[in-house]
Amino acid sequence: MHSLRNLLQEAQGNGVAIGHFNISDLVLLKAVFAAARELNVPVLVGLSEGEREFVGVRQIAAFVRSLREEFDFPIFLNADHTHSLAKGVEAAKAGFDSIVFDLSALPIEENVRQTKQAVEALKAINPSVLVEGEIGDIGTGSEIHESSPDVVKGLSTPGEAKHFVESTGVDILAPAVGNTHGMLRSMVQGETKKHLDIERIVGIKRAAQVFITLHGGSGTDDEDLRKAIAAGINIIHINTELRVAWRHGLEHGLSTHPGEVVPYKILPPAVEAVKQVVGSRLRLFKGGRHAAQGA
Ligand SMILES: [Zn+2]
Repeated sequence: MHSLRNLLQEAQGNGVAIGHFNISDLVLLKAVFAAARELNVPVLVGLSEGEREFVGVRQIAAFVRSLREEFDFPIFLNADHTHSLAKGVEAAKAGFDSIVFDLSALPIEENVRQTKQAVEALKAINPSVLVEGEIGDIGTGSEIHESSPDVVKGLSTPGEAKHFVESTGVDILAPAVGNTHGMLRSMVQGETKKHLDIERIVGIKRAAQVFITLHGGSGTDDEDLRKAIAAGINIIHINTELRVAWRHGLEHGLSTHPGEVVPYKILPPAVEAVKQVVGSRLRLFKGGRHAAQGA
């Protein structure tokens, strides 16, 4: 079985990105796993601190490990948006493959100082764990927002990216390149799309020379995602789109089975709805730079 680092290197060489999908229950995990197996592409499942709190840190690690082993399939586990070293240590000890250590809300030098310490502490627990650091402001909350944040003021620069990566030793960088967490209601309805600063991604990739993650991928224009992969994005996070599908699927399951109380009879439409979204995103990421116009 390949390690996550090997698979990222392979994806980078092939000009494709690995999909990262947030989960907080079995419906979401089943849907992500089924879609990835159908397309036969490696996949990352991630849980933020809140999602881990709900599912259980060691419990989700055991579950994902059992899928990986039983099906001999490259499914990996990420501790998304971890805001304290204690929570990172907990995830590393449980066997998570990667940890997003996110102190992007702090001033950059404080972010550098504490992220460097975290990289050392987490790799002392598991030398092969990948640590991702985050710079810039991409907002919080993978939810439906009523108004859009000011994307421009929190954008990352190539110089900042280079300084951060060289000073901290992170394996993966999450910059702010026009991406934001969550979706506007108009995006859920398909009326508007997020757009990315592709030139900024090119500059950051060249300066930082590490794997790069795009957070907040939900609601992003397909062509922008293809160009972002061509520009050097290696991992793309999708959360809100899955949550929207989960809710619609659940409502469908409940309304088509009035009076039903058996969970495994109510929930399949929710699994199917999420699986459709994951499948369409994975097909796009798999096409990668080869599908981008002019790339
Ligand atoms: Zn994120």
